[in-house]
Amino acid sequence: MRILIVEDEIRLCEALVQLLKKQHYTVDSDNDGESGLDDALSGIYDVIILDIMLPKLDGLSVLREIRKNNLNVPVILLTAKGEVSDKVTGLDSGADDYLTKPFNTEELLARVRALGRRRGEIVESDALSCGDISLDTGTLKLRCASSEITLTCKESELLQYLILHKDIISSKEQIIEKLWGFNSEAEANHVEVYVSFLRKKLKHVHSELQIKAVRGIGYKLTYE
Ligand code: CA
Repeated sequence: MRILIVEDEIRLCEALVQLLKKQHYTVDSDNDGESGLDDALSGIYDVIILDIMLPKLDGLSVLREIRKNNLNVPVILLTAKGEVSDKVTGLDSGADDYLTKPFNTEELLARVRALGRRRGEIVESDALSCGDISLDTGTLKLRCASSEITLTCKESELLQYLILHKDIISSKEQIIEKLWGFNSEAEANHVEVYVSFLRKKLKHVHSELQIKAVRGIGYKLTYE
C-alpha cells in the first residue's frame, strides 16, 4: 500500500513517514499544497494524509482538486483542534476521515488500515440497485433514469450500507462503526452530515428514493 503525506510541519511529517514505513507501507511526503497536489494527481496512492493549513495551496483546495479529477483515493484530513467548521467543509469537499491534532499515532494507523481495507472491498464490488437508482461502488456513480452524479467514497459507503440493510432501521451507531471503524471518534453528527449530502444527491438525480429518519433510532430507505 502506498501512502502520501502532505504536511508542512517538517518534524511531524518526518515522524509520520517513519511511523508508516515501520508498518511496511511505501510512503512519500510533500511539505506544501502545490507539490502535494501534483503527487496526488499521479493516481498511485492508496491513502492520502492531508494537512489543512499548508503553504502555497491549502489542504481543502488540494482535496477539491483531487475529487474534481475523479480520483477516489481515500483522504484523511489533519485539522487543528476545535476547527469544527473545517471538519464539515472537509467532509463536504470529499474527505473520508479526519484527525484532530495532536492525535494518537495508533489512532492514525487504525484509520489508515481501515481505509486501505475498504478500498480493497470497493474495487471488488459491483453495481447495487434499490428503488429507481443504481449505485456503482467501483466508480461511485449514482444513477437514476438518465441522470447521474458521482458520490464521494463515504457517501457511497453510506448508501451501500443503507441499501444492504434496507429492510431494517440502521442506527447511527451501526453506521459510524461501519464507515469509520469501531474505535473512531466520529460522532452522530457526521452521519447526519452525510445523510444530508446524500439526500441532496438523490434529489439531484430526481430519485424517489428517500432516506427517512426514524426519530431516536436511525435511518431507513423508503421508496414509494
Ligand atoms: Ca500545517
